[in-house]
Amino acid sequence: MTLWLNDLAASELESLVHSLDLPRFRARQLYQWVFQKGVRDLDEMTNLPKALRQSLREAGYAVGPAAIDRVERSVDGTEKLAIRFADGAVVETVLLHMGGGKYTQCLSSQVGCAMGCAFCFTATLGFQRNLSSGEIFDQVLLARAHLAREAAGDASQRITNFVYMGMGEPLANLQNVLRSMDPLFSPDGLGYSSHRVTISTCGLVPQIKALAEAHRGVHLAISLHATTDEARSALMPVNRRYGLQALMAALREWPLEPQRRITIEYVLLRGVNDSLDDAKRLASLLKGLQVRVNLLPFNAFQNAPFEPPEDAQVLKFQKKIEDAGIWVTVRTRRGDDIHAACGQLGKHGDASDDSGDDEAVGCAADFLSGDSCER
Ligand code: SF4
Repeated sequence: MTLWLNDLAASELESLVHSLDLPRFRARQLYQWVFQKGVRDLDEMTNLPKALRQSLREAGYAVGPAAIDRVERSVDGTEKLAIRFADGAVVETVLLHMGGGKYTQCLSSQVGCAMGCAFCFTATLGFQRNLSSGEIFDQVLLARAHLAREAAGDASQRITNFVYMGMGEPLANLQNVLRSMDPLFSPDGLGYSSHRVTISTCGLVPQIKALAEAHRGVHLAISLHATTDEARSALMPVNRRYGLQALMAALREWPLEPQRRITIEYVLLRGVNDSLDDAKRLASLLKGLQVRVNLLPFNAFQNAPFEPPEDAQVLKFQKKIEDAGIWVTVRTRRGDDIHAACGQLGKHGDASDDSGDDEAVGCAADFLSGDSCER
C-alpha cells in the first residue's frame, strides 16, 4: 500500500526521518518539497540524499498523484478546475476572479455530501468519502501551478484568499480540514495568514465549538437560509439535530476578533424564505451579533424544486435587513456560464446543456461577494 507523504503533518515527517536515522533538518527539506514547491516525484527532491529518497520509496512512500482533469473558464474570469485523485475520485475547486489579478479559491472537503440540503445539487449525489488533508491542500497547489502557467511570469496573478465552501460540509471532515491548513499557514509551506481563510458550515454546532477551540484564527460563515426551525428543517436536515436556538448560541460564543464579522449566508428562494416577514425575523435572530449577511438569489439547476426570487423582492429584503442596522450584501454572480455558481459545481461543458449527466458537484462557489474575500 502506498503511503502519501502529503497526508503527513510536519511532526509525522520528523518521526519518519528520525526512524530512518537522519537529522531533523531533512524533515524540513522534505516538507518544503512537498508542501511549498509542490514536487510530486521523489527524484526531483534534489537536496535530499539519494539514499533517503530510496529508503522512502522502499518503505512505500510517495506524493499523492492528484492532477487537474479539466479546466473551464467563465467570461468573467472565474475558472473551475476538476481535480482527480489517486482512487479516481473527482472534486471541483473554483478560482473566483476578484479583479486586479487576485483570486479567491473555493475548496472542496468531501466527495459528495451527506447533509442533504434541499436547494443544493451536491446533496443529490449523496456522500462518497472525506478528502484527506493532502487532497484538500492539493487543490491549492494545483490551482497555484495552473495560475502560474497561465500568467506566464505575471506575479500579479495570485490566489489571495481561500473559502472552504466547495463540495461537502467542511466541519463534517474537521480534522482533515484543520490539518490541510497547516501547510497553508506554515512558513515552510505557503505562508498565508489565517485571516485569508473562511470556513463555511451548514450548522454543525459541536464542530463549530471544536473549530473555535482549535484557535486557528479563521473566519466563520454560516449557511442559515431560514428563520424558523420549521422552515430550516425542511430546507436543511441538519436543523432537526441542531436547531436555530443552539446554532445562534454557538455563534454568540464564537471568538470574534475586533473588526471581524461572522458571514451569514442566506439563499433566497421565491415564495419559500424571501418574504418581508422572513427578513424581519432574520434581523431579529441576528440582533447583537457582529455579522455580515450575504443574500444569495437561488441559482437554478435542472429539476430544482425552487425558483430564484424576483429582483424587486431581493432589494426589498435587503432594505429590511439594512434598516435593522445590519450590514448586508447581495451576491455578485460569478461563473454562471461554467456552472461554477452556488449549487452548480460539477455541471460542466455548455451551460445551456442541462442533460443531467454531471459528475462531481459542489456547494457554494460564489456564496461570497467580493468584499468578503478581502477582509
Ligand atoms: S449546501 Fe453544503 S452542506 Fe448542504 S448539501 Fe450542499 S454541500 Fe452539503
